[in-house]
Amino acid sequence: MENISELSQLWMRVLGKIKPEVDSQIYDSFFKNSYIYQVSAGKMYVVVETNLAVTLISAKYIDLLNSIILEVTQTQYGIVLLTEADLNKQKLPNDKSEPVFFKDSKINPRYTFDNFVKGISNSEASQAALIVASNPGTMYNPLFIYSDSGLGKTHLLHAIANYIKTNSPRSSILICSTDSFVDEYIRSAKGEEDINELKNYIKKVDVLLIDDIQFLANKTKTEEFFFPIFNYFVNNNKQIVLTCDRLPSDLEGLEQRLVTRFTQGLLTHISKPEKTVCIEILKKKIVQNGLDIADFDDDALDFLADKFSSSVRDLEGALLKLLNYTINFKPTKHITLDITIESLAGLIDSNDASGEVSEKRIINIVAAYYNLTPTQIIGNSHIKQITNARHVCMYLARDLLDMPFSAIGKSFGNKDHSTVMSGVQKVEKLLKTDQATKDTINTLKAKITKKV
Ligand code: ADP
Ligand code: MG
Repeated sequence: MENISELSQLWMRVLGKIKPEVDSQIYDSFFKNSYIYQVSAGKMYVVVETNLAVTLISAKYIDLLNSIILEVTQTQYGIVLLTEADLNKQKLPNDKSEPVFFKDSKINPRYTFDNFVKGISNSEASQAALIVASNPGTMYNPLFIYSDSGLGKTHLLHAIANYIKTNSPRSSILICSTDSFVDEYIRSAKGEEDINELKNYIKKVDVLLIDDIQFLANKTKTEEFFFPIFNYFVNNNKQIVLTCDRLPSDLEGLEQRLVTRFTQGLLTHISKPEKTVCIEILKKKIVQNGLDIADFDDDALDFLADKFSSSVRDLEGALLKLLNYTINFKPTKHITLDITIESLAGLIDSNDASGEVSEKRIINIVAAYYNLTPTQIIGNSHIKQITNARHVCMYLARDLLDMPFSAIGKSFGNKDHSTVMSGVQKVEKLLKTDQATKDTINTLKAKITKKV
């Protein structure tokens, strides 16, 4: 029983016999996604999704499992239950120490088609995603989904993965960000892993889902590595889905031959959600948080939908802020328009109608981003989180408004020129080395300079 597909066939037979014996909820939660990792020295190593599943199956279903495995294999195995996390930690017997690529590649189980609210703004993209998920490799290849940020690209990418995982459990899926694709390439190029093994590993996958492909721009070596892989997938009817923050033709710093390939399947766009979609998303989130929609006034939801329709991420953020406010600061069961406005004062200010870049706007947006108040940013607190946000504000004021250090100091509670300068320099230094800071600054700049 060395062969992987033999093992998985065997496990399918075992699952087929377990299913009628246990409650369907239990089956779905604890057995459905299990698989055999390996069989060696009289032991069968079975991977289940969670530690809870290990505990529950060992306590209640181990006899059932033993007898079904005995029936199917005619062999008495010792069953070892473990999770994927255990696999990473433990050295199992006969571990061939094969290179492990894309260790962080994980499908987010919350991003499903069921949880995705459809509307005119996203109907083509969500339909195309569903079509691709139900007929991988045969309809649109590649599928290229593009939109501004916060409109559901990553959600749809994971929905495709979840759908395929459920409906064709034997298909192998690689889902990753472009950043981790680049990192993985660099690791191998530096000799930490074998570059050919990496290539073969990716080629063996049935479905390749890559998020935020715009970050491939100017990564010439990774592009060269990716190009033949991309062609291999398309030529062999293996599905590729890419997401991007813009059209392929607007991608700068990417080889033309790759840009051309990106347009050869289906390009589909998600636009800003219409109000009905926003309202439905809010209602779903309210229910998901264990609350009752009846406790929310319609005009409170209308208000949120109107103010935060340019990004679903911001819409969800605003709702969370409201819920947080009504739990921590103003405990109330019924949520009115007044309370909603009150709880979001900082955020709404920052989304003000003019959209003109000003110090006030920078401070409001940065404060909202870090879940702080503008007063905390301007103040003198030395709490690290607050000083970081303050430095970011100073940097952005300098960068976007070209203000002198002394003028910035005045706006930040009369701080002197050298304090501002050292704050700005701290951010500049981080920008050279730290990807997270770069991402934060880019996101904030986009928010601040976007004319809304
Ligand atoms: P993007 O990748 O385009 O920046 P995401 O997919 O990360 O956006 O979406 C941001 C958040 O908004 C996620 O929590 C996602 O679940 C949610 N979201 C976006 N669009 C929808 C939708 N149509 N229905 C439900 N949730 C959505
Ligand atoms: Mg995304």
